[in-house]
Amino acid sequence: MISIKFLILSLCFLTPIGWAAQPVSDTNIKLYTMNCGTYDVSDMKDLSSNGEYDGQQLQMVNPCFLIRHPKGDLLWDTGHIDSLADSENGEVSGVWHAKLKVKLIDQLAQLGIKANNIEYLSLSHVHPDHAGNANKFVESTFIVNELEHKYMFSEPALTYFGAFYSALEQAKTILFKTEYDVFGDDSVVIKSMPGHTPGSSTLLIRLNKAGNVLLSGDLYIHARGRKLATMHKYNADKRLTIDSRKSFEALAIEEKARVIIQHEKQDFEQLPRFPKFLD
Ligand SMILES: [Zn+2]
Repeated sequence: MISIKFLILSLCFLTPIGWAAQPVSDTNIKLYTMNCGTYDVSDMKDLSSNGEYDGQQLQMVNPCFLIRHPKGDLLWDTGHIDSLADSENGEVSGVWHAKLKVKLIDQLAQLGIKANNIEYLSLSHVHPDHAGNANKFVESTFIVNELEHKYMFSEPALTYFGAFYSALEQAKTILFKTEYDVFGDDSVVIKSMPGHTPGSSTLLIRLNKAGNVLLSGDLYIHARGRKLATMHKYNADKRLTIDSRKSFEALAIEEKARVIIQHEKQDFEQLPRFPKFLD
């Protein structure tokens, strides 16, 4: 049994910038946001090394995203491990209290989807709050930054949280360096934004009515962290994270994208409640 304590290593931050309303794609794409758990943080001290948040509390969300494209489905992040939902009070590790109400697998079932129906799986990064259910998607094609792939199957990462995703070593895999156009029509593009982990990524989705949406992964963990440019302690490379944040903000402006900080509760609450979707 894997302890949720390793989940604390994978926090992220999300923040909004501008958003576009003009149609940017003729392709019928749907973006579903699933509730794949929460974190109640009893002390935000680990969310900055400068002490800004010491003693403060935070409620974080932990969504998974399903992108339905005429050419197939992409699952972006897999949330807390589904077995967490079997524990009514979740799991506490230090200042982190992880909970899950509805299993990812049961949410997909609401749309008539089984794990082995998902054509593509990608993770913003391999930490356990994002890779919790990754082993269930071994029949999907796994799209991953080559440095993240190297990192996730290195001995330290496998030892700490490999049990969540180790089956993916057998999955059909597409490696990329800087970006990957999932469906070949520029509508859903994975963008490398390293720093939090060696090959962390973000996701740009061009929707017909809702405009462009940019999912942050854990480049930021919460909206205030984006404003204050704070950085939590669980960063593989702070310098790289700063560079990636510059690239991310430039991309958000260039694409007039609605930025979703994946762990930011406000951003989550402004999205259509599953099984409603953006299109
Ligand atoms: Zn995270």
